[in-house]
Amino acid sequence: MVTILNYINGKLVGPNSGNYLENVNPAIGKVFSQLPDSDEKDVQLAVDAAQAAYNDWSAMAVEKRQAILLKIADLIDRDLTELALAESEDQGKPVKLAIAVDIPRASANIRFFATGIQHFASEAHITGNEAVNYTTRTPIGIAGCISPWNLPLYLFTWKIAPALAAGCTVVAKPSELTPLTAYLFSKLCIEAGLPKGVLNIVHGLGPKVGQAIVEHPQIPAISFTGGTVTGKRIAATAAPMFKKLSLELGGKNPNIIFADCNWEQALSTSVLSSFSNQGEICLCGSRIFVERPVYDRFVSEFTNRVKSLTVGDPLDEKVKIGAVNSEAHMNKVLSYIILAQEEGGKIECGGERITVEGRCANGYFIAPTVITGLPYDCRTNQEEIFGPVVTIMPFDTEEEVLQYANSTTYGLSATLWTENLTRTHRVAAQLKSGIVWVNCWLFRDLRTPFGGMKQSGVGREGGWEAMRFFTETKNVCIKL
Ligand code: NAD
Repeated sequence: MVTILNYINGKLVGPNSGNYLENVNPAIGKVFSQLPDSDEKDVQLAVDAAQAAYNDWSAMAVEKRQAILLKIADLIDRDLTELALAESEDQGKPVKLAIAVDIPRASANIRFFATGIQHFASEAHITGNEAVNYTTRTPIGIAGCISPWNLPLYLFTWKIAPALAAGCTVVAKPSELTPLTAYLFSKLCIEAGLPKGVLNIVHGLGPKVGQAIVEHPQIPAISFTGGTVTGKRIAATAAPMFKKLSLELGGKNPNIIFADCNWEQALSTSVLSSFSNQGEICLCGSRIFVERPVYDRFVSEFTNRVKSLTVGDPLDEKVKIGAVNSEAHMNKVLSYIILAQEEGGKIECGGERITVEGRCANGYFIAPTVITGLPYDCRTNQEEIFGPVVTIMPFDTEEEVLQYANSTTYGLSATLWTENLTRTHRVAAQLKSGIVWVNCWLFRDLRTPFGGMKQSGVGREGGWEAMRFFTETKNVCIKL
């Protein structure tokens, strides 16, 4: 059994408490590793190390900082298969998906920000012939980075890469449900020669380790991705301390299909946007709205394709849908399927736990589920389920679908399928979402701002938005 360790001050160490938590492989329903049950004392050691490393790292020539980060990215690529297997074992996702998406994206995140720092320039403003203003953006200090379980290494690197590139030192906490790849990553940091204390990874529970990071007075910026309820708690702690906050939270994203869409693209991409990673991607479109003339056809063809998705052992190359992340999460998703039926929904396909033959017999599998017949404002259509469950609803007019789409407390992303250019702009402008995909989904350019409106978050990640988050701005005005 693997024993995961903290990465503090350049060393792999056990927790101060000496206690470990069990880590379950969701596809087989068994404990396969253990992780440190760390507490505020471990966080303090991490902060001390980050503080000691700060002056050298923040003052290091960007070329040198970049070279170390690029070396880490190369090592991720070298270990692609090992990391993908670990991600699949820990999270439940098909290993094929981890090989194609999660791990390559982790190295891409690091390369993107490592090279970006070379181009991160200050602005100057010439005020006639009276003054010159210049603006500096210097590293903010020790950054606290807290990430969730759905895309473990992908989202972990999405936070720490801009922080490290900007010159911050970091105290990070991956999800206690998926700590393995962050642990393997810490070994790669050591191999790449990342100076001790620059990145510190403290494993353990959110209310212990996460809370200690958020409360720590020496950590001025918190970058958090996770649930909206946790985000509220973090904001309540951090706001009176005047910390800088970046919160990437939940979603209940609409997928809007007009009758004039490119049918095949809309259909095939909607299957992906509904069920990729078992529907456990914050950008998944969980509410599908279809224009009435093509509604029946869409329900029938979509359901047929969903029925053909293979659910099963994540190590099997043919499998499209792996295990959901935990037993508790499986029960939560199943409880929403029961609720949907109580609210009058019709299960078009799926709707139940699946038992997989062989080594995965005790795993947490749910058949991809399509539900129709629900009103847009019922709980099933308003609350985040975050699993392999979608609803489909008909609409008649643009006004109506905009009302439905914008009706939730969330506003992360929306997808729009139409070949009508003016409608594209009209609808995109009125959607209350931080991200709108038109005739595509998850077509990522890392330079674009990423994040949500309303209760989907505060602030944006990606590109210069992230670099600005991890830096403090100062304007110097010189009278001529
Ligand atoms: P979660 O909020 O339960 O946990 C996220 C992280 O926060 C974990 O590391 C956890 O240990 C930590 N945490 C828990 N309590 C804490 C506290 N009091 N203080 C500090 N940290 C604490 O979320 P999850 O279940 O791991 O992830 C699923 C959620 O994440 C979904 O709601 C999903 O929509 C959201 N998500 C959002 C995005 C985005 O970019 N907007 C991306 C991925 C996932």
